[in-house]
Amino acid sequence: MTTDSPRLASHAPLSRSLLARKGSATASGFAGAPELVLPSAARLATDDDARAPVETRIEARAAPLIMIVEDNALNMKMMTDLLEGNGFCTLPAVNGPQALAAARAERPDLIVMDIELPGLSGLEVTRRLKADAGLMTIPVIAVSAMARAEDAAMARQAGCADYLVKPVSVADMLSIVARFLR
Ligand code: MN
Repeated sequence: MTTDSPRLASHAPLSRSLLARKGSATASGFAGAPELVLPSAARLATDDDARAPVETRIEARAAPLIMIVEDNALNMKMMTDLLEGNGFCTLPAVNGPQALAAARAERPDLIVMDIELPGLSGLEVTRRLKADAGLMTIPVIAVSAMARAEDAAMARQAGCADYLVKPVSVADMLSIVARFLR
């Protein structure tokens, strides 16, 4: 973490633009602000929600949902605080099998994937996501302590859309998230 507060500097414009998001993750640009913007945790479920088809309910989320796959509890807390503090909803997964199950159940808009996971590696989890027709379009951003060019190349071969080397700065994380959720 840097100390000169890039998080505060980027907080308001990023939150506004992302909360205004409508349509699918692959749509370009925002179709306009919804009438009412609330974090999804504060949104009350209605009978209409229960009747709506799954796709409609996903599109009705108040903010983009980002799945954080991370086995280190401190890293998970920092990422969760950062993303939720900037207006996103988050979905935690601490290992590969949990990540695959949560992705299928919740269809996140973006996945931040730790590569060094116990058991199934982040690369293998990404390969499995990319082999699933229902999940393959979700962008996966790899996060790894491995800084060699070949590590990044392997991540891209596995299907990761981008590769960040730990420690990841607040500014880098927020700008890459904004780029993939645009
Ligand atoms: Mn790890």
